[in-house]
Amino acid sequence: AKEQGGGGRLEIYAAHMHAKVVGRLELQTELRQALADRSFALEFQPVVDLDTSQVTAVEALVRWRRGEELVQPEEFIGPAEESGLIVPLGEWILREACDRVAMWRASDWDIGLSVNLSVKQILSPRFVETVAGVLEESGLPGRVLTLEVDEEVLLENPGEAVERLSELRRLGVRLAIDDFGMGYASLAHLRELRVDAIKIDPSFIRDLGEDGTVTLLTHTIIRLGQDLGMQVVAEGIERPDQLEQLRSMGCGHGQGFLVARPMVADGVEALVGGGAGVAL
Ligand code: C2E
Ligand code: MG
Ligand code: MG
Ligand code: MG
Repeated sequence: AKEQGGGGRLEIYAAHMHAKVVGRLELQTELRQALADRSFALEFQPVVDLDTSQVTAVEALVRWRRGEELVQPEEFIGPAEESGLIVPLGEWILREACDRVAMWRASDWDIGLSVNLSVKQILSPRFVETVAGVLEESGLPGRVLTLEVDEEVLLENPGEAVERLSELRRLGVRLAIDDFGMGYASLAHLRELRVDAIKIDPSFIRDLGEDGTVTLLTHTIIRLGQDLGMQVVAEGIERPDQLEQLRSMGCGHGQGFLVARPMVADGVEALVGGGAGVAL
């Protein structure tokens, strides 16, 4: 009876795993179809200069329009990476975002663009050519584009990834380390790869002023970035006290719901189009 119970549990476990795998495969099929149907959409979140409250750039964030539902990237970027769909999806995101920002720049608005990359994209063949091609077709100068990578990118295949990213940098494109401070090797990466910006992980900003160690670490990251000549962007600013603290620490740039939420392109245009600042 004991053994039977164990076998039963194993069967339940196996059935559960099976359901999970099937669910995953179905999701991947659905995602492939969504790309063909143009069911992905971009939102843009403003990044502001904390001194002037001017919007200096927008970060492109992908969403999936699944019927009435707007699915957030946390639910589908992982599966898109596993299936390899992130390569064509990422190319679509890059092209769509560059075209939009090129349009804004053509109307005399000096705005930059940040796009997130997955490691699969960076290591895919001809990725550098793809980026160069998109820039050329959109007419966007390389320096206007910042590519955001997180540590995972540098952990998975460090030599190859650093090589590809360095080639991208030679195109004039800027590089940023996203979610900086979360990975145990954040500092080591600054040695291997020249980056133009670091984005401080929101978990630091959340506890700013409430946790002495976090506050000190945040201040240290800001100074480190400054000393290395990098732009420092604080992510996840939600409260006025966080904004004040970051300003007093000399943090150059910020992003977060207090500043502006991610918005569709028309929303960005309505709010800050042409170079209007935000009220902060
Ligand atoms: P991320 O690149 O660190 O993007 C910032 C995330 O924080 C966004 O979530 C944004 O909506 C959210 N956020 C911004 N301000 C605040 C705030 O004040 N409070 C809180 N609680 N959240 C805030 P989102 O759009 O759900 O994206 C999540 C992650 O998915 C991104 O993190 C990025 O790693 C990934 N992702 C998004 N778009 C893309 C994409 O086009 N390509 C790739 N490869 N990954 C993407
Ligand atoms: Mg990002
Ligand atoms: Mg990220
Ligand atoms: Mg981040």
